[in-house]
Amino acid sequence: MAAQQSFAIASIPGDGIGGEVIDAGLQVLDAVAELSGGALEFRVTEFPWSSAYYREHGRYIPEGGLEELRRHDAIYFGAVGSPEVPDHVSLWGLRLAITQPFDQWANIRPVTFLPGVTSPLRKADDVELDWIVVRENSEGEYAGLGGRNLSGRGPGEEVAVQTSLHTEKGCERIIRFAFDLARTRQVAKVSSVTKSNAQQHGMVLWDEVFARVKEDYPDVETERVLVDAMSAKFVLHPEQLSVVVASNLHADILSDLGSALAGSLGIAASANLNPERRFPSMFEPVHGSAPDITGRGIANPIGAIASAALMLDHLGLPAEADAVRAAIEATTASGILPLDLGGQADTRQLTQAIVEALRNSW
Ligand code: ATP
Ligand code: MG
Repeated sequence: MAAQQSFAIASIPGDGIGGEVIDAGLQVLDAVAELSGGALEFRVTEFPWSSAYYREHGRYIPEGGLEELRRHDAIYFGAVGSPEVPDHVSLWGLRLAITQPFDQWANIRPVTFLPGVTSPLRKADDVELDWIVVRENSEGEYAGLGGRNLSGRGPGEEVAVQTSLHTEKGCERIIRFAFDLARTRQVAKVSSVTKSNAQQHGMVLWDEVFARVKEDYPDVETERVLVDAMSAKFVLHPEQLSVVVASNLHADILSDLGSALAGSLGIAASANLNPERRFPSMFEPVHGSAPDITGRGIANPIGAIASAALMLDHLGLPAEADAVRAAIEATTASGILPLDLGGQADTRQLTQAIVEALRNSW
């Protein structure tokens, strides 16, 4: 039977455990295709762009690479980062070299609490917790503006400047995105995070845009919280959160905090979206390349598999995405846990268990 819906997926395993967890996610996608009985097909093309590739070729993405990527429906990304390449070189060489030209300006990072996983949050047992961090992904503190050696004086007197760029359009589109997302959730609430007491230009512009946009969403509850206070709130009152929207840097930090509160960085998923769909969007676990555990087969694949679920959502397959999330939950609920969550299952065993749970529930 010919596949009724066929999707072209570009996979970029990248560095370290990237390959191990992407492989796990692709096994789950294979199972989804198989269980669909031929209704779905995922045509996966792997791109070997990594820090090893960079060391050989002097660049992460070859000439024409982006045009090739652009012909895909979605990008499935592992991680980039290697002890042999400075972090800012690898990050700008591969990850940001895709998110920027493909205008993936919305980065969503759900904070998900899994059954059977102990959270350091003392309230985790008695309250249902799940919230989404919406990260401005195109400008802000990661705009790449500034420079070194600005004093013109010698060593010991160097001055470096790192400028944050906030545009009214950039603020408005991410804030609207957060409000639209909030409307799809059980609790329609948006928390806007800034540091506008201390950063009086860009962050104040953000606040002003937020105040204006919220007028269009009278049905959505709102609050404004400074980033330092929000860090405390993540720990002390997470039950009050639904959608948290913040700048590039603030949301980056808050989402790591969120995933640690949920149990481990290894379970956190993310989507880098080009909401206009002019370019493919990119799906990746929040964690990095984890060189300390690379090659041992013990990486937690849940973040990557949950990112594949976000990819299914984006491809217009929400039922399949929910089935994958339910399979993850059924697996952790049954006590099959990876090492970073205090269990014994290695990457292969955990992936097999999730695939099994998917088959059982299909
Ligand atoms: P990068 O430079 O790519 O960000 P990193 O080592 O600085 O890499 P992470 O890769 O995010 O940062 O790792 C931080 C810590 O969390 C490491 O100790 C790593 O082993 C652990 N870790 C991250 N991801 C996983 C995972 N999927 N499974 C198990 N442990 C993980
Ligand atoms: Mg790192």
